[in-house]
This record gives sequence, structure tokens and C-alpha cells, in this order.
Amino acid sequence: MKKTELPAWDLRDLYDGINDPQVEKDLAQYAGLTAELAKKYKGKLSGLAPAAFAAAVRDYEQAGIIASKLGIFAYLNMVTQMNNQVAVAFYQNINEKMTEYGKAAIFFTLEINALPEEKFSAFLDDKAVAYYKPWLEKVRLFKPYELAEDMEALLADKALTSSGAWVRLYDETSSKLKYIVDGKAYNDAEISKLLQDKDPSVREKAGKEMNRVQKENGELFTFIYNMIVKDKAISDEKRGFKSPIASRNLDNMVEDEVVEALSQAVQAKYQSIAGRFYKLKAKWLGKEKIQYWDRNAPLPFSDDKKYGWEESVKLVLGAYNEFSPKLRRVAEDFFSHDWIDVPPREGKRSGAFAMPMPSPYHPYLMLNFVGKQNDVLTLAHELGHGCHMRLSIRQGDLNDDTPLTLAEVASVFAEMLTFQSLLKNLDDDRAKLCLIAAKVNDMINTSLRQIAFHVFETKVHAERKSGELSQERICEIWLEVMRESLGEYVIVDEDSKYIWPIVSHFFHSPFYVYAYSSADCLVNSLYQVYREGTIADFADKYLEMLSQTGVKRYDALLKPFGLDAHEASFWNKGLGLIEEYIDQLEALDKKLG
Ligand SMILES: [Zn+2]
Repeated sequence: MKKTELPAWDLRDLYDGINDPQVEKDLAQYAGLTAELAKKYKGKLSGLAPAAFAAAVRDYEQAGIIASKLGIFAYLNMVTQMNNQVAVAFYQNINEKMTEYGKAAIFFTLEINALPEEKFSAFLDDKAVAYYKPWLEKVRLFKPYELAEDMEALLADKALTSSGAWVRLYDETSSKLKYIVDGKAYNDAEISKLLQDKDPSVREKAGKEMNRVQKENGELFTFIYNMIVKDKAISDEKRGFKSPIASRNLDNMVEDEVVEALSQAVQAKYQSIAGRFYKLKAKWLGKEKIQYWDRNAPLPFSDDKKYGWEESVKLVLGAYNEFSPKLRRVAEDFFSHDWIDVPPREGKRSGAFAMPMPSPYHPYLMLNFVGKQNDVLTLAHELGHGCHMRLSIRQGDLNDDTPLTLAEVASVFAEMLTFQSLLKNLDDDRAKLCLIAAKVNDMINTSLRQIAFHVFETKVHAERKSGELSQERICEIWLEVMRESLGEYVIVDEDSKYIWPIVSHFFHSPFYVYAYSSADCLVNSLYQVYREGTIADFADKYLEMLSQTGVKRYDALLKPFGLDAHEASFWNKGLGLIEEYIDQLEALDKKLG
């Protein structure tokens, strides 16, 4: 199939192009709506009657829908042609205008947050207001941790020169780093790709070079990290958060004990998952132990089977259909209406994503499909996001805000269904082994490795309480955590000691990483329940759950499936799936000799 035959998305459901007169009209409407909001309600929210308050929230939601339409169109129009100056300028221009017009409406959530408790609950007694309860409660989530207004203003101003400045220094320093392999210079993203080269000597050079460059900049990164951790501790203490992780958990709407249960369950499986897998991987790579940088190496005997676009669509929709014809129907629209941009092109952004859109619009998916097995799974993944977005938007634009820990459920689940289909279609044992090994490799990177990162940052934040950590000490923690999580078949030594600053989440979003693991483990547990066949109408209940992720807490969502995330058995159920795949790998390996 030629590249030009692959479908591109059609953005005309939004605008006929950047010169569509509707763009100017919508900008004017957005400016008008926000100005009107300020005129009608600023300083008056607490004095409104419930019906008037509900109307105000509806106006606010309406303004947000227009803003999303404009902003997302400008973004989507740009990402497939980053080399087109007109498209880039249009995006910047729209964004600047929206920020400018949006300022008038900033008061709105601040005033909701300032409502006295009795007033707030009186509003919620009104049926029209109660519709927005999920969103309103999210707005007020951090209220108990708010400081006096002048203190908040001071912290906001000071953030520019404290946490914000350190993050910026980290970003600017990282983006300037150059890695040299065989006389050629690489940036962060490029050097990481070399770790997946089939040639072990290329991987070794890249792995050692990454460590060398990080070591060279290690003192600066150590200083920055110490400052970021301390800055967070200062704010946390003032706000009354009991632990460094507490604010993140509040934002993710998950209890501290649940995260701890996840972390403990995963750590207990390091040996039976990572330990066993890397033993096999070492054997496949023809070594006794693998190097740290060989963890994601391709298997030397993997074939590079290619999949056509039509074939991939059929495969993915087939897998969806087998699970639920309803889910397939939700998915089919993406293909029949050109909501997906498929081929890589000059100037198009790399990677893949699903972009949510408020009703009455629909999500768009961007891929860079070249027909690798992984591209088929990526299609399944992004399409899973797309279907989830279409199902959950029924709760309204403001209410539709799925927390991090649930945002990857539909995508990872869809990927799992498709993986099973791919596997079923293979009859060659070697091909099966390669597919399962790639899946397990991914699962370890998500479920186990992110918890190792989590343990690392938990230790650093805890030790920082009694003073700054030296570079040597941070590296020690890193080595200890890596050794434990990877097991005895991966060499963790001086050559990977300094690379912890590569994990940008440590700097950008402390305690973010566990969400990756929690999402993956949650899906695996859910998938196990599906396989067991003990829940009647599983697929319908699953789709119902997806439609509620913005408005219900995860514990309520899991209840129909008999699952409780507070218990270690919940997480072990999911982790058991990875162990089962490793059993299969061991059996296949034995069979192939
Ligand atoms: Zn995703």
C-alpha cells in the first residue's frame, strides 16, 4: 500500500480551514461570552438563587466548548504540518487570543471555591445545579488546603522564581544535552531509540554515553532536584498535606492506602516477573546476564512482519467486535468519517494521540502508521481512548474529566483485546514467543518500572526532610532500587548509576509515575475478571463504566466487577496475568529448545 492511500483526517466538522469566517465569529462569541460572564456574575455568585447559579455554570460550560473547538482545531491543523509557518502562526495567534479573552472568566472557579460550605450544599440541593456536582466537587477538592488569599497570591508569584524556575532550568539544561555516538550527535529522544537497535554494540555505546552525559551534569541536576523536593515540602507543610504524595493522590482521587497497596503488591512480584523474564531475555540475547541498556533490545530472531492498513483496521475492529459489537459500532465511526490521521508525513509530529472534543463534536486520532506489529497495537490503543471519550462525553463537557488513574483503562484494555487476537492468528511458535515477549517487556516497563521510580522518589522525598542529598546518595538510592526491581539477570553498575535525571516526571510532576502502573494493573485485573467469565453482561457493564469515569470514583466504578483496589488481591490478580505470560514464554522457549 502506498503512503498516499492512507487516510488523513477531515477537520471540516470544525472549520473549513483557517480562513473559514466562522473562526472569527467563534472568537468574537467566546470574547462576548466571557465578558458577559464577568459582567453578570463577578462578585455575585454567592448571592445568586440556585436556578441562576445553574444558568451561570451552563454559560461557563458553553464558553469552554467554544474555546475547545477553536483551540483544538488550531492544534490539529498544525500537528500534521509543523513545517508550515502559517499553520504554526495561526495556532499561536488563536492561543494568545483565547488566553486574553479567557481572563475575564478566571474569577468563576475562584468564586465557586470561595463559597461558604452551607451555601455550596444549598446550591447542590437544586436539581439543575446537582447535574454539575462531579465538576463542582472537583473544583472544591483543594479548598481545605487553601491558604489566605494574600498568601496564595504570594505563592503564585513566587512560583515563577522557585519551583517554576527550577523546572525551567531542568528543561533547558536537558534539551541542550548532546550525546555523541561514533562521532554523531544525538538528542534525548534520538539516543533512546538507539537502545532498541538490533546491534548490541550500538546499544552499549548509547547506554554508556547516556550515563556519561548525565554524570557530567549530575551535580547541577542534583541541586535542581533537591530544590524542587524542598520547595514542594514547604508548600505541602503550609497547606497541611500530611505526606509528600498526599496532594497528588487527592488530585488523582485515590486514597494513600490504595497506592501503598499497589506499590507493595508490585514490589513483591519483582522476582517472579522481572527476575524470570530477564533470565529468559538474557538467554535469547545469548548472554548470561544482560546489560542495563539491553532491557528493551529487540530479540535477534524476531521477524518484522508488516501489516497493511486495511488489514490492521479489520483486525482491531474484529477484536473489538468479539468483545462487544456495541464497542465496535462506537469505533467504526472513526473510519467511516475520517476522524483519524494515519500516515507519517514530512513535518508531522511523531507519536500518536487521541484528542477529546466536547459535544456536539467528536474526538480525533493521530497516528504515524508504518505497518509494524506495534502500530496495530497503537491503533487499538488510541481507538480505545477515542471510544472512551465518546462514551464519557455524554456526562457533559464540564463533568467529563477522567482522573489520570482511569484515563488509560479503555486504551490498555483495547490493546489487550487486540494483542489476544494477534496471538490467536499466529501459528508459528517463534512468532508467538516474540509477540508475548514484546508484550511482557511493555508490561514490565509500565507496571513494575514505574513503581520502581515511585519507590525512588518516595525515598528521596523522605530523606530530603533531614537535609540535602548528595549526588552520591541519590545515585545510591537509584542503584538500590534498580537492582531490586530488575533482578539478578540485569547488570546494574557504574554504567547506569547516573541516569536518574532522565526521568523528567521526577522534576515536572512529583509522584505522577505510579499512575501508569496503577492503570496497567487495574486493566489487567479487569481483563482477568472478563476471562474468568463470572460477571454477567461484562461487556455492557464495562461500557457503562467507561461512560461514568468522569462522574464516579474508581471504587464505585469497580464494584460491579467485584473488585476492590484496597486489597492486595486486586493488584495481584492483574500481576498474575503477567506471570502467566511468562509461564507461556518459558514453555515456548523449552519447546523451541
Ligand atoms: Zn494512552
